[in-house]
Parts: sequence; C-alpha cells; structure tokens
Amino acid sequence: MSHPLLRHYIAGSFVASSRTFDNVSPVDGRVLGQVCEAGAEEVDAAVTAAVEAQSGPWGGWCAAQRADLLERIADAIERRFEDFVAAEVADTGRPVQQARSLDVARGVHNFRTFAGLIRQSGGEYYEMRAGDGSDVFSYTVRKPHGVVAIISPWNLPLLLLTWKVAPALACGNCVVVKPSEDTPSSATLLAEVMHEVGVPAGVFNLVHGFGPASAGEFLTRHPDVDAITFTGESRTGSTIMKAAAEGVREVSFELGGKNAAVVFADCDFDAAVAGVLRSSFTNAGQVCLCSERVYVERPIYDRFVAALKAGAERLKIGYPHEDGVAMGSLISRKHRDKVLGYFELARAEGATLVTGGGVPVFGDARDDGAFVQPTIWTGLGDDARCMREEVFGPVCHIAPFDSDEEVLRRVNDCAYGLAAALWTRDLARAHRISRRIRVGMVWVNTWFLRDLRTPFGGARLSGLGREGGRHSLDFYSETTTVCVNA
Ligand code: NAD
Repeated sequence: MSHPLLRHYIAGSFVASSRTFDNVSPVDGRVLGQVCEAGAEEVDAAVTAAVEAQSGPWGGWCAAQRADLLERIADAIERRFEDFVAAEVADTGRPVQQARSLDVARGVHNFRTFAGLIRQSGGEYYEMRAGDGSDVFSYTVRKPHGVVAIISPWNLPLLLLTWKVAPALACGNCVVVKPSEDTPSSATLLAEVMHEVGVPAGVFNLVHGFGPASAGEFLTRHPDVDAITFTGESRTGSTIMKAAAEGVREVSFELGGKNAAVVFADCDFDAAVAGVLRSSFTNAGQVCLCSERVYVERPIYDRFVAALKAGAERLKIGYPHEDGVAMGSLISRKHRDKVLGYFELARAEGATLVTGGGVPVFGDARDDGAFVQPTIWTGLGDDARCMREEVFGPVCHIAPFDSDEEVLRRVNDCAYGLAAALWTRDLARAHRISRRIRVGMVWVNTWFLRDLRTPFGGARLSGLGREGGRHSLDFYSETTTVCVNA
C-alpha cells in the first residue's frame, strides 16, 4: 500500500488523530505506513455521527433504495478490484491469487447477496376476528437497530468485514466499523468506496485502533451503540459480551474453532487428501474453519498420513506474487511466535513430527517476515493442549479411529463447536453423523463451500447466533408488530 497515513472515516470525512501506529508487512517486516489510532474522542465522534445519520434522511430510505446503494458499492469495489487485492496482499502476505479469487471477490458478492435478499424480504401478516366482531389485521415491520458496532479480525479482512457491513446497511442501520489493527488497509479503501458512491455522511464510519483500552473497547462500551457484531477470538468475545451486557445490547459472535476432519476408509482417497490439505493449510491455516484435528479410519491411516505429508511438502511457500505460491506468511511475527510456541508445546506433549515444525529459511528479506512451515503431527492424546486449543496456523494432527461412535465422541469432546468435514462415499452414514456433531456447519466431501443464504455460526466457544441469508437480516433488524382493529 502506498498510503503514508491511514485515517479514520467519520461523518463523511477522513480524519487523522494524533496517535498512530505502524502498519508492518508480514512478508519482510517493512513498515508500510502509519495508521491513526482512535481514542475515546474519535470513537464518540463516530458513534454520534451514526446516531445523527440514523435520524436524518437515511432513516426514510426504503429497502429498494438501500439495495440499489449496495449494488453501487459492489460495482465500485469491482472498479477498484486490483487496489483491494493490493491492500489485502500488503497487509496479510497472502498469495495474490487468493486475494483475487476469495477475499475481494467475496467482498463484492456479500454486497450483491444482501442487496438481493433485502429486496425480497417481506414480513408476516395475520387476520383474526375480535370478540366484538371487528376484523383485526396484524403485520410485521422490519426496522434497523440504529447504530451497529462491527469489529472484525485480520484473517480474511475484507470478506469478514463486508459480511457484516452489507446486511447491516441493507437493514437500514448506521455502522461504526473497527477492523483489526493488523489489517487496516482494505477497510480504509472500503471507506473510500462508500464516499465515492455517496453513502450519506455518518451511515458508514470507520475507526482504526487496537482492542483493550483502545478503539475496540471504547466502541463496545459506548452507550449509544445498539448492537455489536464481532468476529475474532472466543476470549475477546467473552470480554465484549460483558461490555454488551451494560444496556442489554444484542450481540452476534463468530469465534474460534478447533475443527475436525473425519476421513472414512470408504472415501474417495485422493479427493479426501486434497480436501484435508486445503482445509488444514488454506491461508496458512488462519481460517476459523480450518481442520486442526484430522481423524482417519485405521485401514487407510498410514497411507493417508504419507499422502498428506507429501502434499504438505509440495506446498510452495513464498512471496505473494510468485508463480504457483500456495502459502504466504502468517499475519505477524507476534502470531508466528504464538504458533511456534504450540510447536514447542507439541514436542513437550509427545507429538511425533511428520513434517514441518519450524520456520523456512529463504536467505533473503523474507527471513524478517512471519513464515512458518506447513506442519503435521501424530501421536498426541485427545487431552493434549495442542488437541484442545486453537493454534490458528498451518498445522494439523492426524489420529486413527476404529468406529463411528468412537470418532463421534472424540470429535464432540471439544470446547469449540464451529465446523467439521466428513469424507465418505456412504451418504447415509454422513447424514447420521452430521445430525450428531455439535457444530454449526458440517461439510460432506467438501470444505468451505457456502451458499450465503444458509445460516453460519458456531456452538459453545465458537459463537453465539447465526448470520447468513435471512438470519443476518434477523440479527441486523428489530421486528415491530402492528395490530390494527379495523
Ligand atoms: P481478536 O479477538 O484478537 O481480535 C479481533 C478484533 O477484536 C480486532 O479488531 C481486535 O482489535 C478487536 N479486539 C480485541 N480485543 C478487544 C476488546 N477487548 N474489545 C473490543 N475489541 C477488541 O481475534 P484475531 O486474532 O484478530 O482473529 C483470529 C480469531 O478469529 C481466531 O480465533 C479465529 O478462529 C476467529 N475467527 C472466527 C471466525 C468465525 O466466523 N467464527 C472467522 C474468522 C476468524
């Protein structure tokens, strides 16, 4: 990114603040620029702008007008598609191809999807006869909450931010967004797009900064925020929930995972190996849906471990623009140290290292970046910390199993409950097991594929509520019942 200073966007203007922090490239440790850090004052200005916009002309826009606006936002992102790709790649170090096909493409798709959904959304209507013989008509009206705070993580910055901004605006809310301190660039571009397409001042506001004692905490504690939607770590979700309890604000949480992939002996072997390779190492394992626990039915266990090892060793790690690169850096040195800490812990817990386990050596500037080798362990007990805690890096553990009941019990013996992937040709078994896995999303013979109209979210430590399709519309709106005695 060439921006020397990334600013907040408040009440329709880009504004700087006196405190700034470095935006650092995870590829080689270079400082890319400075980012303004919002204090309580900037956050208050953003929330106040949102409150005022809500009671201005925006409050009178109908659903079709908001849908048109969302389409214009999608068009504008498409016009600046390569700028968004460059921003995402600079902040995250991911392969350019991934930023194009996944991150930015989904950003566009999120706005188009919710434009379509809000156009089609209707309410309920009932008729009854009252005791005095008069007709009674009851119907529902969907209204915005008012001001929605949107707090997003660094792993899929634009995708996850727009997944919430699009339905929030579709429902007529005003938003204050706080992207991760590690990925401020694409959110700033999004603010530029909002400005370009004429989103009314105060409807979309952006504040940069950190979580505790910074923009994130000031935002979630602000009394004029009506609802909070958050994607990030489970621990952070718990902190935000406490802040939301004050004033009984609504929350929607998409949190961490410790997801399982279950490979049955009757699977399409090559498809399962390719699928688990993707589900464990996509985005260097920094996807909440990644499989960190892989269970393989005993008859194919040894063959599967060997095949996944070969696949992981073929993954090319490197610069985002390199031909054929499959894995970029992790998000930061700090995160790399956390992941390497788990590598250390796995050794101490008695894991057998199948491949990886360290840092690649390039002999160039990338040695100052945040790269980690794709890593596979075996031999850990189900109670090992590395089997229970989310690592959020390019790593999985493979364990053998002998029966459906056994694997179901082990998959469910987990504090998280986000997703699971089953690899089998026996679809009856897949249905039976899917019903009993305690997660929000089960894939059968695939991974990550989603129809954006379906509900998405996690159980237990993995989240609260569901977003996606009409579930998003339900979260981002209040329903009023109007009862007419005619
Ligand atoms: P994080 O919780 O550290 O930070 C997420 C966001 O919250 C950032 O913007 C951060 O600044 C802010 N924040 C931190 N502390 C805060 C506080 N006290 N008050 C208000 N805001 C605060 O998470 P991360 O490291 O950025 O993201 C990785 C995590 O996100 C992983 O656990 C991953 O599984 C999870 N995740 C979940 C989903 C999902 O859909 N379930 C999707 C992506 C990522």
